[in-house]
Amino acid sequence: MDKILKVNDLSVSFDTYGGEVKAVRGVTFDLDEKETLAIVGESGSGKSVTAQSIMRLIPMPPGKFASGSIEFNGENVIEKSEKQMEGIRGKEISMIFQDPMTSLNPTMTVGKQIAEGLIKHQNMSKKEAHHRGVELLKLVGIPNPEARIKQYPHEFSGGMRQRAMIAIALACNPKVLIADEPTTALDVTIQAQILDLMRDLQDQTGTSIILITHDLGVVANAAHRVAVMYGGKIVETGNVDEIFYNPKHPYTWGLLGSMPKLDSDSDEELQAIPGSPPDLADPPKGCPFAARCPYAMKVCEDHMPEYTELSKTQKTACWLLDERSPKVEPPESALV
Ligand code: SF4
Ligand code: MG
Repeated sequence: MDKILKVNDLSVSFDTYGGEVKAVRGVTFDLDEKETLAIVGESGSGKSVTAQSIMRLIPMPPGKFASGSIEFNGENVIEKSEKQMEGIRGKEISMIFQDPMTSLNPTMTVGKQIAEGLIKHQNMSKKEAHHRGVELLKLVGIPNPEARIKQYPHEFSGGMRQRAMIAIALACNPKVLIADEPTTALDVTIQAQILDLMRDLQDQTGTSIILITHDLGVVANAAHRVAVMYGGKIVETGNVDEIFYNPKHPYTWGLLGSMPKLDSDSDEELQAIPGSPPDLADPPKGCPFAARCPYAMKVCEDHMPEYTELSKTQKTACWLLDERSPKVEPPESALV
């Protein structure tokens, strides 16, 4: 399959009073056409910064690209002017956020907000944009779209606002949709509906999706591949089956252990991972997870592990995979 996006050795830093915060440190991944890649990690792991970098939404300064490239359609997004980015954002690459209330404009009808992109990027007339808007609201499953399109965001429920955001994001048939915690603010039933909707729309439109989430639980049915981020780095990547059934990184084990299990008669406590993420103003020189890892060895503190390729699709950066390391099995809590 063709790669629509290639992120290569991306590093993003922020100048702060506390020093230079290295939020993203040498991240490499790619995205196939019609694929959903989930980027999973705790807050502060660098996943949102990675997403915003692709859209060039990082304020610079204080932010800066310290290394790497982001190739979209064969061209480096990092080298684009702001003017060129305006032609890409919302048209070729779109983004939806956790809280549609803050990203929708409360003073504009939903219809106007859908029409904006269509008029700007597709040269549609107001009338054409209105018709397309009704179609889009129908597509995302909003009942009575002719009436709804004239309403304001506050007249929509949380789930419907997120559907409207998706309609806006998909209005111009973007090649890539970036969804940053799109269901985190919603209750579980609505979450599932929105994720199903994104999958259906992907089948229809062929859009590639980057799904950013802290919740490994939403990933299983929603993504094809997973990149697990920690401390500004991707520590493990694999397809969904590999991440759920053959995870090799202790941080992935921790995430799996903190996920509610389906067999609810297991009275096992959910294991939150003890400790907190590293200070990225002074990042550890070795493995970023070393301070919290139950299996950490001396080498982990001093040297960043290389990636071990476990399959064509799975790569893991952990010293446990070095042949000289003791053999460690994942804990019971990480078994799905
Ligand atoms: Fe733990 Fe060491 Fe592996 Fe890091 S490299 S996850 S500290 S065992
Ligand atoms: Mg975030």
